[in-house]
Amino acid sequence: MAGRRSQEDYRREPPWYEDGLRFTCTQCCQCCTGPPGYVWLSSGELGRIARFFGLSPAAFARQYCREVGRRVSLKEQTNGDCVLLTPAGCGVYPVRPAQCRTFPFWRDNIRSRQSWEAAAERCPGIGRGRLYAWQEIERIAAERWYT
Ligand code: SF4
Ligand code: SF4
Repeated sequence: MAGRRSQEDYRREPPWYEDGLRFTCTQCCQCCTGPPGYVWLSSGELGRIARFFGLSPAAFARQYCREVGRRVSLKEQTNGDCVLLTPAGCGVYPVRPAQCRTFPFWRDNIRSRQSWEAAAERCPGIGRGRLYAWQEIERIAAERWYT
């Protein structure tokens, strides 16, 4: 995984997205559905989402989470959709995990213009709406998904 670049690095060589990138979520929920994947949770996130449901962390984990090695991921529904996806969208939107909150500004997606365009094929919100400055993109991409 590439390390975070410093302000000095960027003065020498600006990122390819120095003019910013556009993104506004259309709430299509495509990133919450489909083939199996992982939505990682830190213990802090698990606790926040459990409180949102009015459950203890242990009860929430039993019902909605699975252990993957030493990490914890949300379960999936039988069709592969995230267990927290409802017909009205994300059932925990205000407290959704960082992995979901930081999409699509993941390091893998902003690595190159090609990566960003490949991500846009799966996310109709990419390339439209709000313009994010590169500094903001860097801040979002630097957020950790779990601890
Ligand atoms: S795929 Fe993109 S536009 Fe659709 S819900 Fe996910 S982030 Fe929003
Ligand atoms: S937690 Fe919410 S935003 Fe994240 S994958 Fe599940 S339904 Fe989608």
